[in-house]
Amino acid sequence: MLAKTTIFVIASLAIRGSAKTVSHDRSMSVNRLLSSSQPLSNDQLLSTSQSLSTEQLSSTIQPLSTDQLLSSSELLSTSQPLSTGRHVSSSQPVSTDQLLSASQPLSTSQPVSTNQPVPSNASLAQLISHCTVNNTVALTFDDGPYLYLENITDILSAANVTGTFFFNGNNYDCIYNPDEMQRVQYAYDHGHQVASHTWSHKNLAKMNRSRISSEMAGVELALQRIVGVVPAFTRPPYGDYNELVQRIAYKRNQTLVLWDFDSGDSMGATAAESKSSYAKLIATHPSTILALNHEVYKTTVDQILPFAISKLQAAGYNLVSLAECLNMPAYNSQGTRGTPDPTWHC
Ligand SMILES: [Zn+2]
Repeated sequence: MLAKTTIFVIASLAIRGSAKTVSHDRSMSVNRLLSSSQPLSNDQLLSTSQSLSTEQLSSTIQPLSTDQLLSSSELLSTSQPLSTGRHVSSSQPVSTDQLLSASQPLSTSQPVSTNQPVPSNASLAQLISHCTVNNTVALTFDDGPYLYLENITDILSAANVTGTFFFNGNNYDCIYNPDEMQRVQYAYDHGHQVASHTWSHKNLAKMNRSRISSEMAGVELALQRIVGVVPAFTRPPYGDYNELVQRIAYKRNQTLVLWDFDSGDSMGATAAESKSSYAKLIATHPSTILALNHEVYKTTVDQILPFAISKLQAAGYNLVSLAECLNMPAYNSQGTRGTPDPTWHC
């Protein structure tokens, strides 16, 4: 993993010619560390998957079976074709065949950034660390849903900015708690992108195949239930991944997302330091920015975010969703949300 990350960073630096460092998201909360919550087991995933009704999964003809939920190919085959919803880019979606074929090269309709390494093995998930649409900024927020999600949504929406939220299933809180479900829906309903940060915010690079798949499946299922979409993007906790993670992400039709700017809010930076980091970055005026923030800190909401939005907009950037800054679809499927039942639990 280290070697891969190093190569990746070197490649990125060589091409961008800037001294950005891919730092690691170290935002383990005290709450989470102290939490007694257990990672979502396979059994939990299996038991919850069986209760999905046809109504809940309007995009599917039949409820997803256990195998379907844990198999990306089946998920794709039962999912509604990629729609042209508000988060979906104008580019043609990659077909199921393209996504499932390990030998078929990626079509030109799938934007493969030229500023990132393209896996030599086509069965590895694409890694994203930069936006590709010129003059765009994607503000991304990790580790929720949590207390400040609606505040962030309001700040973004008031500034006509679209943000992107990478949610955990059970980190600062359980995504199935009614308050958190309402917050997730609030952000989505206001047009912001939702994506996966895995179930329990543990290091995927230290897990076996079934655990990695469960960590991804849990959030994909939760977002399908809560807002009706299966996300197309996953940010691995701490930015850590290995080839197995990439293979499983590929099979789950997930693009892995890192970042090229870290506000530092999860690494102990003060609000003043984070604002200074933003100001220094904007002064260099990179063509695009993919910014890592965390929705779980009040200073991020109250101080850093308003400052960053103001400065970025004054510099002429378009502040858009991750999908928009990449010209890629945000979701693998879009349907209607489900109705909570006792199987929706952490
Ligand atoms: Zn995180």
